[in-house]
Amino acid sequence: MPRVAVVGSGPSGVYTAAGLLEQSALGQVRVDVLDRLPCPYGLVRYGVAPDHEKIKSLQNNLRRVLEDERVRFLGGVEVGTGQLTPARLRELYHAVVYCIGAAADRRLSVPGEDLAGSWSATEFVSWYSAHPDSLAADFVRDVDTAVVVGVGNVAVDVTRILSRGVRELRATDMPEAALSALGSGHVREVQMVGRRGPSQARFTTKELRELGTLPDTEVLVDPAELALDPAFHDPSGLPAPQRRNIEVLRGWSERRPTGLPHVIRLRFFLRPAEILGARGRVGTVRFERTAPTADGRITGTGVHEEIPAQLLLRSVGYRGLALEGLPFDPANGTVPHVAGRVLRDGAASPGEYVAGWIKRGPTGVIGSNRPCAKETVHSLAEDAEDLLARGELPDPLEGLRASGQSPVGWAGWRAIERAEASLGTSLGRGPVKIGDWQALRDAARSAPL
Ligand code: NAP
Repeated sequence: MPRVAVVGSGPSGVYTAAGLLEQSALGQVRVDVLDRLPCPYGLVRYGVAPDHEKIKSLQNNLRRVLEDERVRFLGGVEVGTGQLTPARLRELYHAVVYCIGAAADRRLSVPGEDLAGSWSATEFVSWYSAHPDSLAADFVRDVDTAVVVGVGNVAVDVTRILSRGVRELRATDMPEAALSALGSGHVREVQMVGRRGPSQARFTTKELRELGTLPDTEVLVDPAELALDPAFHDPSGLPAPQRRNIEVLRGWSERRPTGLPHVIRLRFFLRPAEILGARGRVGTVRFERTAPTADGRITGTGVHEEIPAQLLLRSVGYRGLALEGLPFDPANGTVPHVAGRVLRDGAASPGEYVAGWIKRGPTGVIGSNRPCAKETVHSLAEDAEDLLARGELPDPLEGLRASGQSPVGWAGWRAIERAEASLGTSLGRGPVKIGDWQALRDAARSAPL
């Protein structure tokens, strides 16, 4: 019976597991989906914004795969630290597919970046998503104005969450501490700032438009700043998604401020130069005005602009992290591979595969992981004969335990879900996420594997 381990239970891991079940070359395959956390779903649980219920509901599709009788979820299993090395995992399974995503964030590399009040969007998202590794910080205390650097979909997410009121956030599964901090509504203005022009922004139009629907919030765009982009005057040469973005921004730029209590300002052609402190924390973000070049890049103009702010979130993309014992290309934060086969010293390493962001970099929407996983599964199926030539393997569960791991099974995860539902009931809310390692472990232990 072929046995495959999938490391990571986010969308790429679960789509990989689903693909493996469909492969006739793998016969009666059994798939163990391992995760460092006792909770499944990766970025669907810990990245998708809590107010995006429709995308969150993708969990139901992922759940169906993880509840298949040929699949076993084993949470609380950390590969790459201690005794559970990739080499040890290879001994326990015919094949291992790493779907470990891109867990780190990129930096701005400007002076003042480490001041109090300067965070990565990833840290902020982890906080309001109740990630158990999150630093317990009140990101928005005494914040009147926040600056978000970057104009991708994560920047839109954090801008929207900063601007929403308690009434809307209360309906989500956001942990109570983040809800009361964010819901107090003290953040009056959020400036979301791109270093290039509106035609080069990475956000998608649906997400952009949503900013214009937030209650008590107005979106302001300076038409003169938009006009610095040559494509603003004539967007006809742009691909349709960028053209639609320009249309939305043009509409907003024609509006006059109406004095609503919350403001989102979309800014362009400003690149961060320095973060200046005031009373030991972020006080002002200094930008250099940029100008577009003919090849779609930007050049500095030497003119600077300062935005007073007490919170800076850099939302400039994710970055893959090396896993001890697995090859890694630090230049782009991915594992070297050919069609999903991990390369060691330039040659395909038998039985080791990658899928998702650690394979192709942190781009694309959740659905992009489907074809990516499919390609990897196809490679694995092509190799099946060689992989299965190893015959019977030791019991993987015993092997994992002997390597110092205490796996949490599906029943443990369901116990966490029940604990989150009763926490929510006690607070007069729907399910509320638990973000504390000990509480998660205690709940999971009530339903042993
Ligand atoms: P992203 O789409 O790559 O956007 C990164 C942004 O940071 C870009 O505007 C980029 O500008 C800017 N940037 C990079 N380095 C910078 C620097 N040193 N200084 C100033 N700006 C800098 O990344 P993301 O927003 O983290 O999203 C990651 C992926 O997740 C994307 O594929 C996204 O679509 C997806 N996602 C989707 C959703 C959704 O569908 N609702 C939600 C969240 C995330 P340049 O273009 O100039 O480099």
